[in-house]
Amino acid sequence: MSLIIISCSKDDDKIDPSQFIGDYELKSCFTDTDFYSDAEGGCEIFKVGNTIRISFYVDKNSNENVSFDGYFDGDQVLTSDEENFGRIWEASLGIYIDQVDGTTYEFWKSSYINSGASSSSGRCQAITQKGTQCKRKASKGSIYCWQHKNNH
Ligand SMILES: [Zn+2]
Repeated sequence: MSLIIISCSKDDDKIDPSQFIGDYELKSCFTDTDFYSDAEGGCEIFKVGNTIRISFYVDKNSNENVSFDGYFDGDQVLTSDEENFGRIWEASLGIYIDQVDGTTYEFWKSSYINSGASSSSGRCQAITQKGTQCKRKASKGSIYCWQHKNNH
């Protein structure tokens, strides 16, 4: 029988947040006591210089929404003011973000949600900076996606 020594060095375990770069749509939003069944929104993870940044918007219900901009330090999500916002976890179809207040946001990769949705119905009508139509799904009651809805 051999003895297995498990290393617990924090730096070695630090994950590389660039693996999460991509475009996501909200799948679910919940706390220990509440499930926001009507919640919708989206999330974008992207690289600026050497920093992996995250921007997301979640409409929990008609009068409560969260708009977040921040960045990663390993799997830790920090606000632009360097305050701890929460942690990111990898899921099979996307990511989970656990906010320090106990809220969990589950995002799925847009490619899973939008695959096959090439028809114009339900697709965001915004034109991107590249001059092509946005590939995201339009939000409920809007012709724009979560991100473009806020810019119009
Ligand atoms: Zn859009």
